[in-house]
Amino acid sequence: MSSTQQDRQQASAEERIEEFDAVIVGAGFAGLYALHKLRDQMGLSARVFEAGDGIGGTWYWNRYPGARSDSSSWIYCYSFDDELRQEWQWSERYPQQEEMLGYLEHVADRFDLNRDIQLGTRVIGAAYDEETNRWEIRTDTGDFVSARFLIAALGALSAANVPDITGMESFAGERYHTAEWPHEGVDFAGKRVGLIGTGATGIQVATELAGQADHLTVFQRTPNYAVPLGNYPLDAESRRRYKENYEEIWESVRHNFSGHDYDPIEKETHDATPEERERVFQERWDRGGFGLWLGNYDDILESGEANEVVSEWVRQKIQGRVDDPQTAEKLTPRDHAFGTKRVPLENGYYEIFNQDNVELIDVQNAPIEEITQTGVRTKDGEHEFDALVFATGFDAMTGPYNKIDIRGRDGQLLRDKWAEGPRARAPTSAS
Ligand SMILES: Cc1cc2nc3c(=O)[nH]c(=O)nc-3n(C[C@H](O)[C@H](O)[C@H](O)COP(=O)(O)OP(=O)(O)OC[C@H]3O[C@@H](n4cnc5c(N)ncnc54)[C@H](O)[C@@H]3O)c2cc1C
Repeated sequence: MSSTQQDRQQASAEERIEEFDAVIVGAGFAGLYALHKLRDQMGLSARVFEAGDGIGGTWYWNRYPGARSDSSSWIYCYSFDDELRQEWQWSERYPQQEEMLGYLEHVADRFDLNRDIQLGTRVIGAAYDEETNRWEIRTDTGDFVSARFLIAALGALSAANVPDITGMESFAGERYHTAEWPHEGVDFAGKRVGLIGTGATGIQVATELAGQADHLTVFQRTPNYAVPLGNYPLDAESRRRYKENYEEIWESVRHNFSGHDYDPIEKETHDATPEERERVFQERWDRGGFGLWLGNYDDILESGEANEVVSEWVRQKIQGRVDDPQTAEKLTPRDHAFGTKRVPLENGYYEIFNQDNVELIDVQNAPIEEITQTGVRTKDGEHEFDALVFATGFDAMTGPYNKIDIRGRDGQLLRDKWAEGPRARAPTSAS
């Protein structure tokens, strides 16, 4: 007997199966829009299951100090409804987590989405039944529902990655992951804090913790090319300007290779004089955001030689901001080219390493060997902490899928099918 048949038998004995045209998993940006589209524009019955106790996805979970968007607010929002675009007032170029969440809650209220969203409910299984051409979906709260369409709006970055370090459970102090941050916030005053991870999130949170904690130790595996955020408040005039030009802005975003509002310069790096390059790089650095990355000479992501010009320019900038030459060198990326990894945006990150209460540990030289009851032991010795913060990112892309028992034709598990990596290929007669 197939697992689907078993599920159904079990369900008919114990539970009432609810039927929907569509089940949507996740109530972040994607899930909310999917509900509006399917229910209100296509007339389908739909139910959203969301594991969190609130809507918002990324912006519900990531409440760490310093959490904010790094896409400009006027493009990091929905485009499907002009009244919504016109009425919402962003306060900053890069809004903080609270404002992003407020926006998504506003959208859910405005389009009356909440009545079809079941919070605090994690989908644990979804089996496709070929006979009925429907999905049968189970949740951790005992729901068993059937739907013609299953929409996985699970998020690429929604399964927190907690590293498997020996002794993790033995730590007696406080322990936090940035993507599962306590809603009531954390008071770090007077505490010795260890921060593990220096990606986009680690850089945001370190900058805040340096001003809050008694002492902050940052454990870095790979230095990044972080560039200035360049945040600023939006006044009535700038809001009016982008609202008037929404159509134009969105048209350009839709055709931009990165989906952002930056256009590459149609010129190669070495066709510009050194003086012109200096001016172009400096302007983008001063303006902040992804301009140096996505709005630069159009060969910087194609030619190693061109890339090295901007990579070296950013390295010099980093070195110029950090007083201690050894720390500056540890913070300077030399193992990859600028822009080949996601470029983090920073707001005073490099300067925190000039503070007496901040220390940088390069775990490539001094690997973490163990987490102890009192702190972290590296090859070079023990560091004692009152609190540990993990900014170690996500089991990205497939992580949230692997947590669900998704079975397709012949009961095949998706996580088995994707064991060698995810693929989306139409079945052929040979497969
Ligand atoms: C800190 C941070 C900052 C970011 N900033 C930007 C930015 O500035 N610009 C940008 O373009 N992108 C940014 N991103 C990427 C961001 O994830 C996306 O922009 C967007 O928010 C994703 O929306 P989503 O609906 O696809 O997924 P999510 O917002 O991740 O929502 C997915 C939801 O699915 C739920 N879920 C997952 N599995 C299950 C399950 N089995 N059952 C029930 N519910 C489940 C999760 O709880 C989650 O609430 C950022 C990401 C992070 C982490």
